[in-house]
Amino acid sequence: MNLHEYQGKEMLASYGVTIQRGKLAHTVEEAVAGYEQLKAETGTQFCVVKAQIHAGGRGKGGGVKLAKNMDDLKQHAGNILGMMLKTPQTPGGMEGEGKLVRKVLIAEDCYADFDKCKEYYVSILMDREKKRNVIIYSTEGGMNIEEVAEQTPHLVHKEYIDPHVGLRDFQKRNIAFNLALSGNAYKEFLKFIGNLYKAFIGSDASLFEINPCLKTADDRIIAVDSKVTLDENALFRHPDLEALRDTDEEDPTEVEAKGYGLNYVNLDGNVGCMVNGAGLAMATMDIIKLSGGSPANFLDVGGTADAARVEQAFRLILRDSNVKAILINIFGGIVRCDRVAQGVVDAYRNMGNVTVPIIVRLQGTNADIAKELIDNSGLEVHSAIQLQEAADLVKKMIS
Ligand code: GDP
Ligand code: MN
Repeated sequence: MNLHEYQGKEMLASYGVTIQRGKLAHTVEEAVAGYEQLKAETGTQFCVVKAQIHAGGRGKGGGVKLAKNMDDLKQHAGNILGMMLKTPQTPGGMEGEGKLVRKVLIAEDCYADFDKCKEYYVSILMDREKKRNVIIYSTEGGMNIEEVAEQTPHLVHKEYIDPHVGLRDFQKRNIAFNLALSGNAYKEFLKFIGNLYKAFIGSDASLFEINPCLKTADDRIIAVDSKVTLDENALFRHPDLEALRDTDEEDPTEVEAKGYGLNYVNLDGNVGCMVNGAGLAMATMDIIKLSGGSPANFLDVGGTADAARVEQAFRLILRDSNVKAILINIFGGIVRCDRVAQGVVDAYRNMGNVTVPIIVRLQGTNADIAKELIDNSGLEVHSAIQLQEAADLVKKMIS
């Protein structure tokens, strides 16, 4: 689950990370009031109007603007609120239709004495190969880190963290040293990175990206931006963070699927898949790729794939107009294959308008009865017992 910049910053601040302070606004009036408050609380002269959407690169699309006075502020807030903001990370990129901006953060200007400020890049994530969290950091902050990594890879550093001992002091010093910090900024950074790592562990995050992490003219270290992704599977431990979910920003089909207890992720291929169990779902996606297709979605219907769920899953998959065939791959362990087969047949009949071919591979308890049920249904549902047969059928149907 992704947090908005303002939510991520609030969470970081609760762990003692210094942030660029701000006020959230849904209207120009709220933005005006926010700016007034911010001036009173922080003494900032200028402020930055920042679009709050779940995508980075907002600056490039005109979603981050500096306001030097109240007139600027009204103009920028008025323009940004309600705009369809296109960034390299919104669907379709800069050529896409963009994302609607429903709220803005009015943030203090941290770049006073601009030429003495310096932007850094800091992120934390899990390196699955090394089985460790890693802090990735660079002196080249503020800009596109992918470009930095491609063109000047020696400027991107990594610090791996032993899960048993956590982030050690010498590692913090090593990072600060590689960022060429000195004096008070060096000391501030040690606190900053220590608290940032505490926040990462404490919130069960899977990604933190602070870009830019700013050294101000007076040697403070500040998180000017925050991208926070939390581990969905750990959210039950954080009801306060779960409450920050913004379904406006999520894929509506995925939100709906969650409501039905389905584990659904939209992809851009042409073969819809319906599978029970995440491992089998991954293997099924591989099989689809190997047979020349490309999965339109990941869908784990869970252990209790009854007719009602199968039907919901069908509806979700069919809403995707790219889908040319559906592969249902169910292992009947706890759930009996004939029940699932009946569910598929019922759902197909109930829906009435299914025009894409369906390939069903049922294996396990009562697989033979299930096959018979499907073969005798008179519907355009093809049954397969072996995975290879299923893959061959997919290939035939999409070519
Ligand atoms: P992103 O484009 O979505 O990554 O949004 P950021 O929060 O990173 O902001 C984009 C850029 O706006 C930053 O890299 C800064 O250069 C600039 N910016 C952000 N906050 C301030 C500020 O307080 N003052 C000034 N002058 N520029 C800022
Ligand atoms: Mn940024």
